[in-house]
Amino acid sequence: MTNTKAYAAFSHQSPLAPYAIDRRAPGAHDVQIEILYCGVCHSDIHQVLNEWGNSHFPMVPGHEIVGRVTGIGSSVESFKLGELVGVGCMVNSCHHCPDCEDHQEQFCNQTVFTYNSIDVDGSPTYGGYSTQIVVNQDFVLHVSEKLDPASVAPLLCAGITTYSPLRHWRVGKGQKVGIVGLGGLGHMGVKFARAFGAEVVLFTTSPSKVADAKQLGANSAVISTDPEQMNQHLASFDFILDTVSAPHNLDAYTSLLKRDGTLCLVGVPDHPHPSPQVGNLIFKRRQIAGSLIGGIQETQEMLDFCAEHNITSDIELIPIQKINDAYERVLKSDVKYRFVIDIASLKSS
Ligand code: NAP
Ligand code: ZN
Repeated sequence: MTNTKAYAAFSHQSPLAPYAIDRRAPGAHDVQIEILYCGVCHSDIHQVLNEWGNSHFPMVPGHEIVGRVTGIGSSVESFKLGELVGVGCMVNSCHHCPDCEDHQEQFCNQTVFTYNSIDVDGSPTYGGYSTQIVVNQDFVLHVSEKLDPASVAPLLCAGITTYSPLRHWRVGKGQKVGIVGLGGLGHMGVKFARAFGAEVVLFTTSPSKVADAKQLGANSAVISTDPEQMNQHLASFDFILDTVSAPHNLDAYTSLLKRDGTLCLVGVPDHPHPSPQVGNLIFKRRQIAGSLIGGIQETQEMLDFCAEHNITSDIELIPIQKINDAYERVLKSDVKYRFVIDIASLKSS
C-alpha cells in the first residue's frame, strides 16, 4: 500500500478538500503511474453533486489522467518505466463477455470505472485528483511525447466520447455535421468533425463563443436560442452530436436532420429531456441515439490520430486548490474549454 495525496468530496454538499488514500502495490498485471495532469469533466461535477443518484463518498473524481510509469508488474510487457501514459474513464472490465471481446469494454456489465465504482477486490475506486494510481495494464494508454501532456489529458474522456460516435456514424467529407454545446466535449467534437472532413456547424447558447467556435474549426456557429437562425438549417444535417449537460428541447435539433439523419446524445443531464415529438422522427425516418465514451482500442486509435494530426484540447491549467472555483465556472458554461489540474500543486501541498 502506498499513501497517496488526493482531493475528495465528502458529501454532495461539501466542497472538495484534501484527503489521503491508499493505493495498492502493483500486482503482476498492473502499471503504477505518477499522475502529472488530470482534466475536469462535467461528469465529475454531476457525480460530486450526486445528480445521477449513484454517488459514494468520500469521492476522489478524475478520469482524464496523464502521467509517467513509476512501476510495472512482472507480467507487464508493453509499458516501460518513465513512459508517458494515460488513463480514462475505465480501469477494468470482465475481459471475456461479447462486449469486451468486441473491444467495447465500456458496455461490459462489470466495467470498473476510474472512480465512484467498486474495484475487482471490492474496494472503492479513486480517480485522478491524486498523485498516483495503479491500473491494470489493459486499461493504460500510450501517450505520444510529441504533444503537450496537460492538453492531452482531456482526450482521455472528452476526446474519446466525441471521436467514437463521429467514427461510428462515419462522419466525413461531403456531410453537414452539427455539434451542440461548446464545452469540454463540444470543442473536441468540433475539432474531430473538421479533421474528418465534414462541414461543421456549432450550436451554442453563448453568443460570446461564436468567434472561438470558428477558430476551433467550425465553418459556422448558430445561436440556438434564436429561432430565425435555427430555421435556416431545417432538414439539412446528416448527423448532430449533442453534448449539452442539462435537459433541453430535442425537437429543435431533430427538425434540423435530413431524412435518415441521426441526433446522437452524449450529455447526461440530471433530469430527462422533455419527450421528443414522434412526428418529427417518423416523417423523415430520423433517429435519436446515444453513445458512451469508447473502448480502449479505439481510445488508443484516437490518441494516435491526435498525435499524427497535432490535435489537443484547449485548456486552462489550474492548481488543485482552485478546483471548487473551476466547478462553479463549468456550471456557468464559462470554461475555455477544459480545466486541467496541475498535479504538481497537490504534491507540493
Ligand atoms: P461542459 O464543459 O460543461 O459543456 C457543456 C456545454 O453545454 C456548456 O458549455 C454549454 O455550451 C452547454 N449547456 C450547458 N447548460 C446548458 C443548458 N441549460 N441549455 C443549453 N446548453 C447548455 O460539459 P462536458 O464536460 O463537455 O460534458 C457534457 C455532458 O456530457 C455532461 O452531461 C457529461 O456528464 C456528459 N459526458 C458524457 C459522456 C459519455 O460517455 N456519454 C462522457 C463524458 C461526459 P454553450 O455555452 O455553447 O451553450
Ligand atoms: Zn468525463
